[in-house]
Amino acid sequence: MIICTSPNQLQDALDHGRQRVDEIGFVPTMGALHQGHISLVNAALAKNLLTVASIFVNPTQFNNKSDFELYPRTENADITMLEQAGCHIVYLPQPTHIYPSVDPLPRHYELGNLENLLEGEHRPGHYQGVCQVVHRLLYAVRPHHLFMGIKDYQQCMVVQRLIDMHTIPVALHKVPTVREADGLAMSSRNRRLSAEQRGKAVSIYNALCMVKERFAFTPIRQLEEEAAAYLLDMGFASVDYVSIAHAYNLQPLQEGERSEPAVCLVAAWLGEIRLIDNLAL
Ligand code: AMP
Repeated sequence: MIICTSPNQLQDALDHGRQRVDEIGFVPTMGALHQGHISLVNAALAKNLLTVASIFVNPTQFNNKSDFELYPRTENADITMLEQAGCHIVYLPQPTHIYPSVDPLPRHYELGNLENLLEGEHRPGHYQGVCQVVHRLLYAVRPHHLFMGIKDYQQCMVVQRLIDMHTIPVALHKVPTVREADGLAMSSRNRRLSAEQRGKAVSIYNALCMVKERFAFTPIRQLEEEAAAYLLDMGFASVDYVSIAHAYNLQPLQEGERSEPAVCLVAAWLGEIRLIDNLAL
């Protein structure tokens, strides 16, 4: 695996790799890697792509300073995991590489309602930061295929919108969520949970399964309220939202739309740690 810490090194590695493999697959991450991230790398490798992963804790997507400072950083272990997975190139840029003083790419992105709903509403500026970093990484890596996790459902929608708006020639592949044995969605933030919090965290998945089981015969808004109450009962400090939403636009699903594709999305706090998850209904 080639380790690149500057844009020049990345370009050299890409030029070299392209002599052997036509198409590039790209997996952007913020590190503290787990099997969820590796499943994205595996999806790229399965397509026989020149597989590039990046590790960059992007400051502009954190709307909370302490969340940025406390975000787990495990670079050496990350590099070992990528190497063992068979990843070809890892890119570890500095903030000045992504955000140079002369920057050809936009700072603002028109995201419409995606920015007012759910994560957009609860994390002001978050998706501007996501678009800023993903656009700049796509510009540097110029992949044909981009791999992202359905775990961050709304993020996939935001990035598809970025791709469409800027006619970026890349195909987005959405990879299923990898879960722990008990169902908890793998997440870098899980590392910050105490043993006691880790025990409670699985309730998010249990709440989603409960919603899925009862969806056919329970009023939608009642089901959302019951799932939120369950999370509080199970020891969550607060619930930002439980939303049963239209799978294509994330608008709250109405009773008359039950036959439409739907997804249940949850964001809730265990102490200072915010967890998100979702399940197709
Ligand atoms: P992050 O490092 O949290 O920014 O995540 C990098 C990529 O990994 C994003 O596309 C995430 O959606 C994806 N990802 C995170 N957790 C999981 C998971 N448990 N299963 C599959 N993909 C995931």
